[in-house]
Amino acid sequence: MNYKERDQKHLWHPLTQHKLHQEHLAVVRAEGVWLYDEEDKRYIDGISSWYTCMYGHSHPKIISKVKQQLDVLDQVVFSGFTHPPAIELSEKLMAILPSKMTKIFFSDNGSTSVDVAIKMSLQYYFNQGQKRKRIIAFDKAFHGDTFGAMSVSGLSVYNGPFEDFLLTVERLEVPNEQNITAVLNRFKDLLDSGEVAAFIYEPLVQGAASMNMHQPEHLEKLLKMAEEADVLTIADEVMTGFGKTGKNFASEYMHTQPDMICLSKSLTAGVAPMALTCCSQRVYDAFYDDQMSKGFFHGHTYSANPLACTAAIAGLDLLGSEEMQSNIQRIHKRHLEFEQHIRSHTKVKQTRVSGVIFAMDLDIEMERYGNLRDQLYHFFMEKGVFLRPLGNTVYTLPPYIISDSELDLIYDVMEQCLEIV
Ligand SMILES: *Cc1c(COP(=O)(O)O)cnc(C)c1O
Repeated sequence: MNYKERDQKHLWHPLTQHKLHQEHLAVVRAEGVWLYDEEDKRYIDGISSWYTCMYGHSHPKIISKVKQQLDVLDQVVFSGFTHPPAIELSEKLMAILPSKMTKIFFSDNGSTSVDVAIKMSLQYYFNQGQKRKRIIAFDKAFHGDTFGAMSVSGLSVYNGPFEDFLLTVERLEVPNEQNITAVLNRFKDLLDSGEVAAFIYEPLVQGAASMNMHQPEHLEKLLKMAEEADVLTIADEVMTGFGKTGKNFASEYMHTQPDMICLSKSLTAGVAPMALTCCSQRVYDAFYDDQMSKGFFHGHTYSANPLACTAAIAGLDLLGSEEMQSNIQRIHKRHLEFEQHIRSHTKVKQTRVSGVIFAMDLDIEMERYGNLRDQLYHFFMEKGVFLRPLGNTVYTLPPYIISDSELDLIYDVMEQCLEIV
């Protein structure tokens, strides 16, 4: 039996209806931008394995540092102990994070980093004798699959069965030229209620909502209003963090800084699961007290795993290198050129680019996980390119190390797919 067959015996895959989707391609190794299946057919990882391995798979500099760390310290409890990789990571991050950030709290994945931020906001007011029970989040937001993260997410395909069990969340339309006045008015009314603990948002790009993009000027206004109303703001940069939008953090496109930033995905360069909730001194100070109970009683067994921290440090070194920064600019420029080329095609409804993210909406009606979407997916895989269309949106977010000719392969299949739909 090959892996594809053995898989079906015991494994239950994420986001999968197994009755409709029984076979899973086995990827047995990966290197650079390439994934290899068990028959040694290779595929370009056009979405960087869900925006994680931005420096390519198995980057030698990351692998060698993690191997060295493995010989020194594998794992230790982070409650009561500290260790060099966590300290070094915090110092390196502080050097590039928006200046308001002063503290870092570890957890295991994007969803938990959001849950941590939500719990911090609620307890921030609780510790000051206030009960603020509402949270503001954008329409079609995606913040993860744990209960807190699900509550603030607005995509019902994920959340339907659990709606009765979620936190109280007020939905705000994502601002654009047309609705901006209405959005600001509604936001003001919500803030004025005095019941809102936090506003959580994916800055500039909503990944799961088909790479939906909004303008920094509009978000700036919302952040400023929240700051004036003393409502905490949480930038979920789990997807956008570490260069995807062209700057290290999407939050850098606004003047008003958030109170908290959630990070995961490419934090460890795709090597290990780990996440961070970064916060301002003001947030930290609300928990700093002689009373034990005012502390933040949240912790995960693997918090700040030394191997994950080491991968993150090596990733940050690469991100800061001239090579990687010029790669990011190069991909951005090539995306803009491809956009110019493809945007007037009759089958293309809309295109958008932010940093290394390119997305195009096909001018056809399509279900998010329907047949046509699957046909597109298989078409790309046949051609040796791994892309995951979201409904009628085809997008790429390639590893920064992708070469120009490898990028051309992605653009080519994107253009060819317009002929089959
Ligand atoms: C992926 C993602 C999450 C959830 O992260 P997981 O590691 O999958 O739990 C949260 N927020 C955003 C913006 C994401 O893209």
